[in-house]
Amino acid sequence: MTGFLLENATVVTGVPGADVIPDGAVFLDDGVVVSIGPRGTLRSPDTATRIDAGGGIVMPGLVNAHSHAADGLFRGLVEDLPLEPWLQTVWKAEGAILNADTVRLGARLGLAEMLLSGITATLDMFWYPFSTAKAAEELGIRLVGGGVFIDGKTSDGLDHRGHLAESEKFILGYRDHPHIHAAVQPHGTYTVGPSSLKDTGELARRHGVLWGTHAAETAFEQATVTKRHGRSVIRHLSDLGLLGPDVTLAHCVHLDEEEIALLASTGTNVAHNPVSNLKLGSGISPVPDMLAAGVNVALGTDGPISGNDLDPWLAMRLAAILHKGARQDATAVPAETAFWMATANGARALGLADRIGTLEPGKAADLILVDTGGAHATPMFDPVNFLVFAAGRGDVRDVFVGGEPVVRNRRLARADLAAIKRDVAALVPDIRASIGR
Ligand SMILES: [Zn+2]
Repeated sequence: MTGFLLENATVVTGVPGADVIPDGAVFLDDGVVVSIGPRGTLRSPDTATRIDAGGGIVMPGLVNAHSHAADGLFRGLVEDLPLEPWLQTVWKAEGAILNADTVRLGARLGLAEMLLSGITATLDMFWYPFSTAKAAEELGIRLVGGGVFIDGKTSDGLDHRGHLAESEKFILGYRDHPHIHAAVQPHGTYTVGPSSLKDTGELARRHGVLWGTHAAETAFEQATVTKRHGRSVIRHLSDLGLLGPDVTLAHCVHLDEEEIALLASTGTNVAHNPVSNLKLGSGISPVPDMLAAGVNVALGTDGPISGNDLDPWLAMRLAAILHKGARQDATAVPAETAFWMATANGARALGLADRIGTLEPGKAADLILVDTGGAHATPMFDPVNFLVFAAGRGDVRDVFVGGEPVVRNRRLARADLAAIKRDVAALVPDIRASIGR
């Protein structure tokens, strides 16, 4: 390998204080960013592949802090229901359709959509985690995944012990992988009992990997957990010793001040999923309060059945504008903050802050090139304002993960999207039949 030199670009590094280099260049080699600077100042071998960025923006890849990639198989199947009855129908379809092969297919679809949208890393929660990992290896995306838990025997035939064994096998199997990283993810505090939750936390900490779950997503969930355990979701997790900088909680919509303080003092990460929270009528997360308290808030797309697509740009734009409207305060969640939520904060929430999230020499070359040729990009007084308030996934031209081009000129480099779509179409009659349609 002799590297890539990206030139003729506005470089947005995402590093506070050094964040924009107009007419800049980035040289990547051997999987990492080697150097960043004004055009013509970087040393690179003559054999490096030169890429003309065409005046576009080179920036860190977007980090998705909460997804269920393979759920793309059920996109649009169940709509306009609140979370709990909606979940019952979704789980019926999942139970009938999912196996190691269909999950791999669904993950190919979901991860392909993510890469084409500029997501370079995702924290994914789904059954048959080895299938999603294989799809991630095929496509070249960075994945944090692994064992998932729910009480009782699941459709893959595994009970709690079985899932613990599967989870540990994933951790050991991917320990040294360059772009697949292990996590342990029970579904939630209302679907997994306290002693099982503790087992999963112990497993994650014994191996030093990330632990994550859904938390405080709906009022119904808060009421259920409070009735069962006499304490709210966040206090329940706190009492079980399951908060900390190695923990990422998806949603956190229903919180009081004391719970926000608990998240902040323990360094717990939160994945904000504005699209899913709005569409499922779950509520509006107190993101400005969490940010003010010092909580690391990242962004997630959630699954394509709770948001229909996996669009990080919509999540980022909503993170920046939703709270302005809800609070009648145009200063809530400034553009730069929303940008960091989608990049550096996401890296921290995935346990990969030392490796990704900003463009810096020595960090993994996970980066994207955003085209700025559109009418909606003209004029551009501030690239970060453009990225947050106007850019979309149609603007993503090239995507690199670990220094490797995985999307070039809006096409997957390592997989055939048409073949993936054909395979999904062949499964559609069975998916319909699974819920009697
Ligand atoms: Zn979710």
